[in-house]
Amino acid sequence: MITAARGNMLRCKSWRAEALLRMLENVLEVGERPEELVVYAALGKAARDWPAYHAIVDALRALEVGRTLVLQTGRPIGVLTTHPGAPLVVSAVNNTVGRWATEERCYERMREGKTIWGGLTAAAWQYIGRQGVLGGTYELLRAAQRKHFPEADGRHRWLLTAGLGGMGSAQPISAKMAGLSSLTVEVDPAKIDRLVVAGGLDLVAADLEEALAAIGKAVAAGSPTAVALQGNSATVFERIAARGVVPDLVTDQTAAHDARFGYVPEGLDLADWIRLRESAPREIELRARESMATQVRAMLALRDAGAVVFENGNNLRVQAAEALSPPESERAFAGIPGFMQAYLRPLFCRGIGPFRWVLLSGSEADRDVVDELASRLFPERPEVAEWIALARQHIPPQGLPARSCWLGYGERAALAVAVNDAVRDGRISAPVAFTRDHLDSAGMTHPRIGTEGMADDSDGVSDWPILDAMLLATAGADLVAVHSGGGGYSGWMQSSGVTVVADGTPEARERLRLALDLDSGLGVLRHATAGYPEAQQAVRDSARPESHGPELHWINPNT
Ligand code: NAD
Repeated sequence: MITAARGNMLRCKSWRAEALLRMLENVLEVGERPEELVVYAALGKAARDWPAYHAIVDALRALEVGRTLVLQTGRPIGVLTTHPGAPLVVSAVNNTVGRWATEERCYERMREGKTIWGGLTAAAWQYIGRQGVLGGTYELLRAAQRKHFPEADGRHRWLLTAGLGGMGSAQPISAKMAGLSSLTVEVDPAKIDRLVVAGGLDLVAADLEEALAAIGKAVAAGSPTAVALQGNSATVFERIAARGVVPDLVTDQTAAHDARFGYVPEGLDLADWIRLRESAPREIELRARESMATQVRAMLALRDAGAVVFENGNNLRVQAAEALSPPESERAFAGIPGFMQAYLRPLFCRGIGPFRWVLLSGSEADRDVVDELASRLFPERPEVAEWIALARQHIPPQGLPARSCWLGYGERAALAVAVNDAVRDGRISAPVAFTRDHLDSAGMTHPRIGTEGMADDSDGVSDWPILDAMLLATAGADLVAVHSGGGGYSGWMQSSGVTVVADGTPEARERLRLALDLDSGLGVLRHATAGYPEAQQAVRDSARPESHGPELHWINPNT
């Protein structure tokens, strides 16, 4: 078992390299199937294979500042002489030209050990377990509540969802933080048990009757509860719809994006599913898509009965569409909006997205110092301090102490620079790595997830993550990654990832400021260019004296 090193002992020649090594170790410490190097999202891997992993570790240990380690699809292919202000690691994963970017070709190459799906944050070593997505799920549920139930605080409402995997297990915790009760359907009892141990569930119901009774009681009392039910989401969603029970919110976070490895078809137990997906992969995919179609039909029925239904970034509608009739599929896309388009884009317009930091010392006390700084620095946005207080109370620890926090343009760099100063002064005992999810304002193109329904029709345009990575490299960010989709996401996405280490030096201060402002600033410009008034306002706001970042200079293509 791999665990991340803690404390102040360096195994590498600089803290910058040591930080990246600890981030790599940490994604395996908190990952789903570390023995296979699988971190999350069904197949998302930290490295190509174990020899590649060990070669990366050796290369990081030997890496001098002024050199750059080059990773190609999860394996190291060389160290080039660059300069001290250059990234220490650049990485590209499974970027494949359009006509070659098919699921079949990807699975075949994966089997042959020739490629991997790097997830968003798996092969870029930025995953922090469910903590990472907790903030996003909380922001999403809050935005949905504000939009649909502006009158209520949510305590008398509930969410129906599925999947308690790496990301999905954030759902019951985030729902409770947002004041909602939740019923989560999960096929694998081990995933349920794991979340019970982590303190994320109040009840594992024996059957649907018990689950609905517990939810009914909690909703009536206005006392949010988190209930899990072992079962297949297609079956359970259909039964709920047939009973005429109407949840307030309905979504899903099984790994539906991958019909072979991410979604268990109805009527199969886990052991048979695991066996058959190797011996009869085509049959498994067909059956999974049929079950997804059943689940989507149930979601539409719940929507017709009054529930608010949305897709939460797992490509469920795209996969189900293959087993739905054309009119049903049309109804699914019209009636079940993607979460980004429906709720979160106004935040991306301001560069606000899933920023995160990792305390490389392993010390909770260090995390407290950063929490305190983040709570204090942005009085004009009280929701930041509110989130930090909630996160401290509700989020179970996983791996190195870490925090995700939705910060925007200027704010990210302001916090990181303050933390760098605290590392320099010794108020924080060791360096801190700053990073983010790839699903961010500039970093992501996925026409069914991050960029669905863009105002200028740029849903599938992947210039933005590529521009982002180029800018991040010019800033000397410590790690810059460009990932494409893999497995069920083959041909669907392009993303960029970044990690910058606050090691207390003046050079780190400069790198943090540049990289974090460029990254979120490009996000604002992207959305301004697409025509979003909120982003154009964010450009104007950047010129105000109270702006945390430098003034953004946007060249409006329409004038
Ligand atoms: P995971 O593979 O770790 O977990 C998937 C879970 O779904 C597993 O526990 C599995 O047992 C369960 N499952 C599969 N089929 C089921 C079924 N029919 N009924 C009930 N449970 C079933 O994946 P993850 O990391 O949790 O990610 C889930 C999905 O969310 C992925 O598609 C991923 O791409 C997406 N995602 C979205 C966001 C976002 O911001 N919205 C972020 C990250 C990931």
